[in-house]
Amino acid sequence: EARLTNSCHSVFDSRLEKRYLRKLEVTQRLQQAITTQSFTLLFQPQFNLKEGRVHSAEALIRWHDAELGPVYPDEFIPLAESSGDITLITEWVFSESLNQLQQWQDQGFDLGVSINLSARDILKNEFIDHVLDTIKERHIPSHLLMLEVTESAIVEDMEHAIQNLRRLYDAGIQLAMDDFGTGFSSLAQLKELPVHELKIDKSFVLNLNEDADDQKIVRSTIEMAHSLGISTIAEGTENIESINLLKAMNCDAIQGYFLSKPISSAELLTWLVQFNK
Ligand code: C2E
Ligand code: CA
Ligand code: CA
Ligand code: CA
Repeated sequence: EARLTNSCHSVFDSRLEKRYLRKLEVTQRLQQAITTQSFTLLFQPQFNLKEGRVHSAEALIRWHDAELGPVYPDEFIPLAESSGDITLITEWVFSESLNQLQQWQDQGFDLGVSINLSARDILKNEFIDHVLDTIKERHIPSHLLMLEVTESAIVEDMEHAIQNLRRLYDAGIQLAMDDFGTGFSSLAQLKELPVHELKIDKSFVLNLNEDADDQKIVRSTIEMAHSLGISTIAEGTENIESINLLKAMNCDAIQGYFLSKPISSAELLTWLVQFNK
């Protein structure tokens, strides 16, 4: 380890090293977290502006490590993607989300659940088989399950991605294109994709009420999606002014801190009862 403590290293090098060591440590601890399944799920409500009701909730993973403390998905999901462990995580999220969905149903809450998939998952035929087998076995109403995919999978292998998305779509599962506008996929590609919903990335939404350019982008995105028969949800709605603008732009649904941060399933049900009063 002499190399790491070499005093000749520039500040830049030592920063790189710190980052590298952190990566290494998180990757190692993550292995353990996967075997012990030490994750939890939070849920963030999605509000349908047309129906005037919370129709669904997005499952967002949380990991609290005994040594590292809370580690956020923006940090560990990319590491799990490169190590290949992401599939195990996705399968856990999927199974746990279905448990919650069934609980909500049993308690009389007509609520869907939305799950984030990685590029790898969507290109893995066995994962698609697993999803289809599971919803059949567990008698899950397929329209209550939404899967969120990002552009990266589609860019990697469009033909294969479309094939797999089509299988899910044909089974009645809802599909959303997440983070729309941040990648390189074109509108022309969107036309080819079997998706029901387009999620407008929060980078266009956070300052919507103050930014005329964001307003132009969001307005035309909504129009374009609708002309292709695709519904729209805006994420990152933090203030009422932006929500009113989105309503005026004919956006179908919203998700963001103004309504609620991601919360536990129990908190969500309590929140919903209050909200619906
Ligand atoms: P995402 O799928 O784009 O999820 C939305 C992120 O925006 C969430 O961050 C959410 O907490 C945050 N957010 C929601 N409303 C607001 C708002 O009004 N303002 C702001 N500033 N932020 C808001 P989170 O939970 O930290 O997740 C980050 C990313 O990690 C997700 O981005 C997703 O890409 C990934 N991720 C989270 N859970 C999972 C999972 O179970 N599986 C996979 N593959 N990825 C996940
Ligand atoms: Ca998402
Ligand atoms: Ca997103
Ligand atoms: Ca994201």
